[in-house]
Amino acid sequence: MHILHVAAEIYPLVKTGGLADIVAALPNAQAKRGCDVRVLLPGFRGILAGVTELTPVAQIGPVFGAAAVQLLAGRLPDTELSAYVIDAPFLYDREGNPYVGPDRHDWKDNHRRFALLGWAAAHIAFGELDPDWQPDIVHAHDWHAGLASAYIRQNPSLKTPTVFTVHNLAFRGIFPMECYGELGLTAQFLTPSGLEFYGSFSFMKAGLVYSDKITTVSPTYAKEIQTPEFGWGLDGVLTERANDLSGILNGVDYDVWTPQDPKIARTYTATNQNGKKLCKRALQKDFGLQRDGESPLFAVVSRLAGQKGMDLLLDALPELIGGGGQLVVLGTGETEIEARFFQASQAYPGRVAVRIGYDENLSHRIMAGADLLLVPSRFEPCGLTQLYALRYGTLPVVHRVGGLSDTVVDTTPETIASGRATGFSFDRPESAALGARIRDACTLYHKDRGLWRRIRRRAMLQNFSWDDSAAHYEVLYRNLL
Ligand code: ADP
Repeated sequence: MHILHVAAEIYPLVKTGGLADIVAALPNAQAKRGCDVRVLLPGFRGILAGVTELTPVAQIGPVFGAAAVQLLAGRLPDTELSAYVIDAPFLYDREGNPYVGPDRHDWKDNHRRFALLGWAAAHIAFGELDPDWQPDIVHAHDWHAGLASAYIRQNPSLKTPTVFTVHNLAFRGIFPMECYGELGLTAQFLTPSGLEFYGSFSFMKAGLVYSDKITTVSPTYAKEIQTPEFGWGLDGVLTERANDLSGILNGVDYDVWTPQDPKIARTYTATNQNGKKLCKRALQKDFGLQRDGESPLFAVVSRLAGQKGMDLLLDALPELIGGGGQLVVLGTGETEIEARFFQASQAYPGRVAVRIGYDENLSHRIMAGADLLLVPSRFEPCGLTQLYALRYGTLPVVHRVGGLSDTVVDTTPETIASGRATGFSFDRPESAALGARIRDACTLYHKDRGLWRRIRRRAMLQNFSWDDSAAHYEVLYRNLL
């Protein structure tokens, strides 16, 4: 089976969130199952620098306002996987991240930058760009790649089946109507049953309407997005397409996320957890926290955004401190939340420490060194950090939504008795509910370290491997073929 993944990010070359991890790991898992998988990526600086053996496949353009556009092919680092890269310096060779400039504002030409991605996917599918390779399936990810299905649908002689995966419905790729004329799409699509969205148009909606199958990254999120509360105005479309919508849980690359990790102070296993104590001590030292083995050490590794419930955590901090806890935070995001965390680190020196920024290595050391990971997201399509935390025996404290609800088993008398508990969860996105659960976790930590170790062992033995997820995607593809 020939599969073309279409996405804007891929770990470790360009990453702003979980999407990048998935676009790196899923194709690998599919290749291991014998599929011929390629990934199509925009030629951002990190991609051009990281994909090896790049050679030209086709000259394209001018298109979407760029005069010189080439399709290149190369190899993804440390894999056998091929990647197509769209080299369009006028659109992609910029400072900042894929979506926003250094001033944190969206690039004004994002509609053209990402239309090119979908457009190139359709033309590869048609066999126009690479005479040697055509996909049987085009699998597009998030709004950035949402137009791939529209460009494919627009051509009646192009029958390649399409799958569209929603990694986060909140980002809908909405643009003003006047941009539409620049995209080369038929005006027939610009209707409420097409990609029109309340007087504008949406790349995400295009993916939802014109793809043959829709998936999202957890079974619970697949249900939630069909409701007004989580649907971002697209719940109607999703409900209509309910028969074509399914939730397939993300996996974890356990070669990267493992307590056998060379990045951490001391390795450990589920049966011999001693190294974790040293990881905790190293983390406390690194962050300038009191070197105290008796304090439950909470951590955050996250975008610092309202979605992630960071304001709830800030409001619940007195409970964490009152429970004898410590907190390390690694993240970057909204200015106000960053400022509030900074203030908290000054209010509780030695107890709360904050690193504003993005640091892959440090995120591993935090996963290993902390006792608990806080993920109080208001909504969470899948969530990866709680899965990583589980593998390192760092118990997640989560709001029971989306993928968090599918992957963390709350600690209750019943789940303790049945040996299923792996973390802590709460039902309402309110600081009081989070604070109460933080207190419970602190109490258990202080009271019964033997039980804590047993829960930790259970957490470490959870297996969210890509093999299962890849098998599910394969069934979906086969049904389409
Ligand atoms: P989202 O994609 O919504 O941001 P996920 O939990 O799905 O959330 O994925 C977040 C990914 O980004 C994880 O791999 C996490 O480790 C990583 N991450 C988030 N913030 C940081 C940071 N400040 N430094 C390093 N890694 C981070």
